[in-house]
Amino acid sequence: MVKLYYKKFLAGIRVIIIICFYLDKQQRAALFGKFRRVYWSRFKDDKTDFFISQRKGDCTRCGNCCQIGYVCPAYDTKSRLCTINKIKPLVCKLFPLTPLDIADRDSVSFNPQCGFYWQKTFSELSCEFKSVPK
Ligand code: SF4
Ligand code: SF4
Repeated sequence: MVKLYYKKFLAGIRVIIIICFYLDKQQRAALFGKFRRVYWSRFKDDKTDFFISQRKGDCTRCGNCCQIGYVCPAYDTKSRLCTINKIKPLVCKLFPLTPLDIADRDSVSFNPQCGFYWQKTFSELSCEFKSVPK
């Protein structure tokens, strides 16, 4: 069973490497950003909660986070709304999880800016999290 899981994992890695080969630098960055967000939301822990707790502002529904790397098939470009809002993935509900996500989102467009923001950088917040008593 573990062997099968390991084989599937390796096959997945191979597919990702092949896909990356055909992507340009910006598309690769967008893809890695997606993996990072899925990881942070899927394995949501104290660090994820800490980053979200430090987040300020609110969503202004600009829709740019639905177009990082490619336009999500569930995104309606006319209404600028998610057509599966009630069942959208957790990673979408939690966006942005860290300042790195804002940078990914800004690669689509700076204007308008995301309604969410952090007053500190990713590195500063990571250091601050390490010093929080557990
Ligand atoms: S980029 Fe920010 S403001 Fe725009 S829809 Fe996404 S979370 Fe909301
Ligand atoms: S599922 Fe909805 S919220 Fe998530 S990226 Fe697609 S359109 Fe945006």
